[in-house]
Amino acid sequence: MATNVSTMIDADRIAQRVRELGAEITRDYAGRNLVLVCVLKGSFVFTSDLARNIDLPMRVEFLGVRSYGEGTKSSGVVQITHDLTKPVEGDDVLIVEDIVDTGLTIAHLLDLLRTRKPASVKVCALLHKPARTRIQVPIDYLGFTIEDKFVVGYGLDWAERYRNLPFIGLVESGS
Ligand code: 5GP
Repeated sequence: MATNVSTMIDADRIAQRVRELGAEITRDYAGRNLVLVCVLKGSFVFTSDLARNIDLPMRVEFLGVRSYGEGTKSSGVVQITHDLTKPVEGDDVLIVEDIVDTGLTIAHLLDLLRTRKPASVKVCALLHKPARTRIQVPIDYLGFTIEDKFVVGYGLDWAERYRNLPFIGLVESGS
């Protein structure tokens, strides 16, 4: 199944970086009320690995979003398809995103979550494509900066496929 996808970031490099991010977050959030907000669907793999590398009492919440942009384009207008199950007022929210591309989705989610009156809201993204930035958003914890290529795997899909690949890759043309 994976033969038509070339590797951009292999599973070992991802695991190493996720361990480093987990250690940083563990240091920074000691004594706080950490809530990881996993942005579905793309962040489910990253969130599950990250959570297991954070050595603190914490909660996990899920935010389902659907972008109105079709195919590989983001419009930044997102529909919430699944909301948090508990209030985050007074909590230290860390949004866990698979990839920040134009920045429109994360800007929208930051605005949305700030209305819930958390003590703080920060962003942890596995990937960032700076070439496509349309709105500057702070990425407090970042896994990797990548070039402007459409990537799949490790939770990221292409028409719902490839989310289960253990690495980040590029779909070869013709597949
Ligand atoms: P943004 O609003 O920052 O442009 O887009 C963020 C969302 O677009 C991501 O959460 C992801 O769902 C999707 N996206 C952006 N770039 C890629 C990519 O290279 N591969 C995949 N699979 N999704 C992407």
